[in-house]
Amino acid sequence: MEKIGPVINGKELKITGGEIVDVINPATGKTIARQLCCDAKCVDEIVASSKQAFQSAQWQSMSPSDRGYCLMKLADIMEANSDELADLELQDTGKPITQLKNTEIPLTASILRFYAGAADKIEGRVKSFSKGTFQFTLYEPYGVVAGILPWNYPLVNVAMKVAPALAAGNAIVIKPSVDTPLTSVKFAKLCIEAGIPNGIVNVALGKGSSTGEILIKHPDVKKISFTGSTVIGQHIQRQAVDQMKAVNLELGGKNAIIVFADADLDKAADAAIISAFINAGQLCVSCSRLLVQDSISSDFQSILKKKLKKLSIGNPYDKDTLIGPMITKAQYDTALDYIKIAAEEGCHILAGGNRMNFSDSLAGGFWIEPTILTDVKADMRVATEEIFGPVLSMIFFKDEAEAVKISNGVIYGLSGSVWTRDSSRAMRMTIALNTGIIWVNCMMDGYPQIPVPPHKMSGTGVELGIEGLMAYCKQKSAVMAYDDKAPVGWNL
Ligand code: NAD
Repeated sequence: MEKIGPVINGKELKITGGEIVDVINPATGKTIARQLCCDAKCVDEIVASSKQAFQSAQWQSMSPSDRGYCLMKLADIMEANSDELADLELQDTGKPITQLKNTEIPLTASILRFYAGAADKIEGRVKSFSKGTFQFTLYEPYGVVAGILPWNYPLVNVAMKVAPALAAGNAIVIKPSVDTPLTSVKFAKLCIEAGIPNGIVNVALGKGSSTGEILIKHPDVKKISFTGSTVIGQHIQRQAVDQMKAVNLELGGKNAIIVFADADLDKAADAAIISAFINAGQLCVSCSRLLVQDSISSDFQSILKKKLKKLSIGNPYDKDTLIGPMITKAQYDTALDYIKIAAEEGCHILAGGNRMNFSDSLAGGFWIEPTILTDVKADMRVATEEIFGPVLSMIFFKDEAEAVKISNGVIYGLSGSVWTRDSSRAMRMTIALNTGIIWVNCMMDGYPQIPVPPHKMSGTGVELGIEGLMAYCKQKSAVMAYDDKAPVGWNL
């Protein structure tokens, strides 16, 4: 069985002091690789290599345009290796090949190209507040950044951390989820082919509670960029306080798509289904609450049911497959538990609700039918807690005020989507909804240019867009006296 190890200076380690963890293909339940995890000594070596690479004359003398050029080249290399990357990601996550080839690999390349183009456009401001002095602000890299990834979009997420971190001039240690390490390791090796110096992108493998914990507490890690659950995000924020590290947290969501009676119902239903079930619902910005105006409740349910029948679920290598499995047995059990909880809370199942049993090679995989729940009340557990699975809770509302109240009535504030032909209402809703991003009459558009700044318990900081690049820059201000007559300051 193939062994996979951490990456240091562009090379994969074949011996580490940590435990060995199996990598499972969730479509089949079979072990596909054995992962060599980092102990404290290994993390220490990785961070030391990153620090040395960051401080090296080679990296420090590289111009921002040249850093951008490397990221641009990396995007080309990603595309040239798209078959291998797609296959690795498919085996690691069970994602359908079509989703990988048509969406995720192109998105990975476009994230790299976006930040490649932005690398030499980081600008401070010139100020003018007193005579005889010249005042300006500038931006600097932090140094070594820890990029902690979830398992749901491993390759896209690695690009979302590495591209802005490098564009801003940092070095980065990636810690992928222990469930999905394969493409991070490949990505780090391809960085070397793109001309990115050894050690600027390293990869530490292992569990969050061991490798992750050691990494975030390491004194030479100056910034943590974390994407994952709210509970772990809170823990990381607390740990970071001791060394006053900068922290960016992109966390959970319980997002709502809101459909008014005047909307294009056919398009709104497409959006609701894609958003809730793509990646088997394991997407932070997916809308797992569907708020429908009560006057169209039965029409909309019929449209949904018809559309749901067209979703093909199964063999990820089949080009027509749209939906894959749950990523782990634990996530599969969680989603099934919530379907049980829904029944106990008095909800009804409009569609799905069952585990899926295959008789072929997929028999051991973690498969659940896309599930739509009706008779859901806004305060039920299935309507307020993040499930992160293919379970959509449908809630009916009377008017705009009630839609806003329900949508804002959860602890999270990541994304939302509003469907209406009334542009004034669309604007009022956009202002009233307490989420970081809102799509009006569209869904999940705008990557990578539009920033996603999480609200409430969905996190702090921002990812994507130019704002996401600035999150990897430390600000500095300077006041320079050029005139002998300029006062010393404070009117001394
Ligand atoms: P998770 O919080 O369990 O793990 C995320 C990462 O943190 C993993 O790499 C894990 O190993 C690591 N980790 C765990 N404990 C750690 C510790 N003590 N110190 C350092 N690192 C630690 O999340 P997950 O189950 O991998 O992903 C699903 C969650 O991620 C969901 O809540 C989802 O909403 C969220 N998510 C958010 C976004 C976003 O952009 N807001 C995107 C994707 C996923």
